[in-house]
Amino acid sequence: MKKTLLSLRNLTKQFDGKTVLDSLDLDIADGEFITLLGPSGCGKTTLLRLMAGFEHPDAGSISLAGEELIDVAPENRPLNTVFQHYALFPHMSVFDNVAYGLKMEKRPKDEIRQRVEEALAMVQLQDYVARKPHQLSGGQQQRVAIARAVVKRPKMLLLDEPLSALDFKLRRTMQVELKRLQRELGITFVFVTHDQEEALSMSDRVVVFKDGVVQQLGTPREVYERPANLFTARFVGETNFFPGRVEAADAGDSITVDVLGLKRTFRRPDFAVVDGQSLHVLLRPEDIRVLAPDDTEGLPGRVVERNYKGSTLDSVIHLEDGTEVLASEFFDEDDPTFDYRLGEPVRVSWVDGWEWLLPEESA
Ligand code: ATP
Repeated sequence: MKKTLLSLRNLTKQFDGKTVLDSLDLDIADGEFITLLGPSGCGKTTLLRLMAGFEHPDAGSISLAGEELIDVAPENRPLNTVFQHYALFPHMSVFDNVAYGLKMEKRPKDEIRQRVEEALAMVQLQDYVARKPHQLSGGQQQRVAIARAVVKRPKMLLLDEPLSALDFKLRRTMQVELKRLQRELGITFVFVTHDQEEALSMSDRVVVFKDGVVQQLGTPREVYERPANLFTARFVGETNFFPGRVEAADAGDSITVDVLGLKRTFRRPDFAVVDGQSLHVLLRPEDIRVLAPDDTEGLPGRVVERNYKGSTLDSVIHLEDGTEVLASEFFDEDDPTFDYRLGEPVRVSWVDGWEWLLPEESA
C-alpha cells in the first residue's frame, strides 16, 4: 500500500440541519485514482468542495501529507479542481487559458512557455495553442480545462463529473485519456461520478456512497464481485437477488443452500450462518445461463423480454414462481442455447462459484 496523501477524519457537514456527510473517515493514497460513486444527492460534490476548501466542515479534519487543511484558503491548498462546467476564458487563446494561473503566480516567461507547452502536449493539444475556445470541440475544451489544472502541478486533482457533458463516444475516449494522463503524471485523482461503469473502468479504488455514508471502499473488482451490502450490489451494475435458505451450515468450507428449490453448495460466506437461516444469493446477469426447455438442469421459466445488444443477448425471464431473472450472455450463433425467442419456455441456471451471499438483514 502506498503512503497516505489525504486523510479525512470524522468529517461531518450539515446544510440547514440536514446531515449531508456523517462522520466520514477516508484515506487517499499518494498517486491513486480514487472515485466517489453514488446516486444524486448523496454528498459527493459536498465532499469534493470540502477537500477544495469551498465549504467548511461542521466537524472533523482534512490533512494532506500530515498538514491540517481546514483553515487553509482554497487558493493555498496544493490541489486543483476541474468542474463539470469548466469555464474557459472565451476571449483568450488556448495558450493563455492554460498559462493564466502561472501568470498570476508571476512565473518567469520562459518557464510559463515551457510548462504550458508540456501540459498541452500531455492532452495532445500542442497544435491548438492559438485557437479560441469556441473553435474547439467539447472534448478539446475539456482537455484545455484539464491542462489548465495540471499545469500548476497540484499534488491532487479533484474532478467533479468532468465528462458528463460529453457525448457517449467522446466520453469513452476521454476516460482512457484521463486515466493515461493520471498514470503519466502520478498525480492523485479524486474523481466524482454517478456512472458506475466509468467508476469501474477508471479507478484504482472506488468509494460507494449513500446518504453521506460510505457503503464500501474497494477495488473495482471487490465492489462489483463482492459487494458489502444490497445497496452496493444494486448500485454497481445489475444483479439478481434470489432468496436462499441454509440447509446445512456445518459442511466445513462450504454450505448447502436451497435456492428457489435447487440445492446448491456454496463457499462459506464471511458472516455466521446457521441451519434454516434465510439469506440473499446474488448473481450477476452474466452469470446466468439460459438453457433449452428440455434441459435437465435449472429452473423452468418463460422469456418476457429479449434485447439483442450486439455483443450480448440480454433477456428477462419469469420463473414459474414469479421470480424475475435478468440474463446477459455473449451472443454466439453457433451455440443453440441462444436460440430462444420472446414468449418461449426456457430453463435458467447459473455458473457455479460466481454467486455471492449476503445476510438477509443486509441494507
Ligand atoms: P449530484 O450527483 O446530484 O451532484 P451529489 O452526490 O454531488 O449529487 P451534493 O451536491 O453533495 O450531492 O449534495 C448533497 C445534499 O446536500 C443534497 O441534498 C443537496 O441538496 C444538499 N446541498 C448541497 N449544497 C448545499 C447548499 N449549499 N445548501 C443547502 N443544501 C445543499
